[in-house]
Amino acid sequence: MDGHPMPMPLRVIDLLRHAARNHPQVEIVSRRVEGDVHRTTYADTYRRVCRLARALEALGIARGDKVATLAWNTYRHLELYYGSMAIGAVCHTLNPRLTVDQLVWICNHGGDRMLCFDASFAPLVAAAAPGLQTVTTFVLLSRTAAMTAPQVEVLDYEELLARQSDADIDWPTPDENAPCGLCYTSGTTGDPKGVCYTPRSTLLHAWASALPDVLALSAQDTVLPVVPMFHVNAWGLPFSLPMVGAKIVFPGPALDGKSLYELCEAERVTMAAGVPTIWLGLLEHVRAQGARFNSLRRTVIGGAAAGEAMVRAFELEHGVRVLHGWGMTETSPVAALNQFTPRQQALSVDARVRLQTKQGRELFGVEMRLEAEDGHVLERDGASTGRLLVRGPWVVQTYQGGVSGARADGWFDTGDIATIDADGFMQIVDRAKDVVKSGGEWISSIALESAAMTHPAVLEAAVIGIPHPKWDERPLLVCVLRPGQALDRAQLLAHLQPLVAKWWLPEAVEFVNALPHGATGKVLKAVLRERFAAPPLQQTSPVY
Ligand code: AMP
Repeated sequence: MDGHPMPMPLRVIDLLRHAARNHPQVEIVSRRVEGDVHRTTYADTYRRVCRLARALEALGIARGDKVATLAWNTYRHLELYYGSMAIGAVCHTLNPRLTVDQLVWICNHGGDRMLCFDASFAPLVAAAAPGLQTVTTFVLLSRTAAMTAPQVEVLDYEELLARQSDADIDWPTPDENAPCGLCYTSGTTGDPKGVCYTPRSTLLHAWASALPDVLALSAQDTVLPVVPMFHVNAWGLPFSLPMVGAKIVFPGPALDGKSLYELCEAERVTMAAGVPTIWLGLLEHVRAQGARFNSLRRTVIGGAAAGEAMVRAFELEHGVRVLHGWGMTETSPVAALNQFTPRQQALSVDARVRLQTKQGRELFGVEMRLEAEDGHVLERDGASTGRLLVRGPWVVQTYQGGVSGARADGWFDTGDIATIDADGFMQIVDRAKDVVKSGGEWISSIALESAAMTHPAVLEAAVIGIPHPKWDERPLLVCVLRPGQALDRAQLLAHLQPLVAKWWLPEAVEFVNALPHGATGKVLKAVLRERFAAPPLQQTSPVY
């Protein structure tokens, strides 16, 4: 008879239990809605999670029930993740930047039973409450706001915890393949779709993303997850950080450049993670103040492309290593990450920076491939451009409600267009719907935006395709200038001329005060298309 290892199912609570046992005094620091900075430890957080798990059960939350959160990145949100998942319930993170109608639709579709919310979102909850068909319990996480919806009873989170014992719990073992987390996609095309995470997908993703050639997380680190816990579990950091015992610094609601910089310095943050728009704000602040990062060693950038200018600013001006990553709600999210091979480390600065604008290699566990329009698999040659497909144990199979996700052949079509080079480095060319189709060829809006943002006067840029009688579509470049800077169309085109193919040069340029951003920090190109669909085209000199 063969021997075998212990068939121990993977449990989410074991991550925090591990941290409490092995890194008990390591801190979890949070800027709170209350306006102060709160400090706790893994040991105390674990004890509060024991209280919370008892409180949830006392309120009738059982296996499979959805506990929704509308909350900033703080220790309380972390407790809700672990308290709900520990008892086999599902933590459903809601994005507070959605509209009331979207929130109501998502809560009803998910079948949420309980809604826990930070005081900042009380007005949103008040507006949504009448439409919520399944929520029976509302919990206010902090005592700073009175609920403005008299028709619902609101429980106080701290009071619920205070009533329960913090004694250790002999935790149940929920099915490692049953949902423990739920997050809806932004739904820019059609209804949002609910992606479920399981203990198995969550732990495998945490293990893989912590590896040295991915995020290289360790107990030496102090990590600032700016990426919200309400969107794809803050890239899994609430799981991978307790796994390694890193100190966590939660920014709460203060996401402006000054607040982030001060927090980074005060807590001696070594790694930060967030979307490019957040880093634009931080870099602008640091630049304006002539400040330096004294402890920050690396920054993870994903959710949208990290352009050349941003990579240069972090790497060359501040000595902060950029870890460019790619993922989606459907991929838990980390699927690819850009860490150098030794050979690449020896490259010239320019070559290195260019390589860093690629989104990186697949993590072990995830497989990526490119497909042409006719379905044949493309070469990994760095030039062939096709639809990016992924598969792996933390990639969606079906969405909430049984809506199909992956194809019958087991691959998930990401809707992104990419290249993959011979070393496995993947580069996103565009979302399939954002690529500019000009005269039967594709223009990468991402590459054009990145080139525009290398102009020192340009703060942010977005490119959309606008209808053109001869070429089907031509690129329109929409730019936001840095405060106090002046730039005209001709100067910008002259800057772009040596950087991109001649026929890529934008047909028209618009300067605006700000770009519209969606709930997860991405530029809302649909809004730009609506606004500039029929612009009075300023013709450039012939581009063909
Ligand atoms: P979401 O599911 O809202 O997280 O969005 C996922 C999408 O964001 C991907 O399919 C990509 O189009 C985009 N995305 C994520 N990371 C990157 C990146 N590093 N560069 C370019 N696009 C990205």
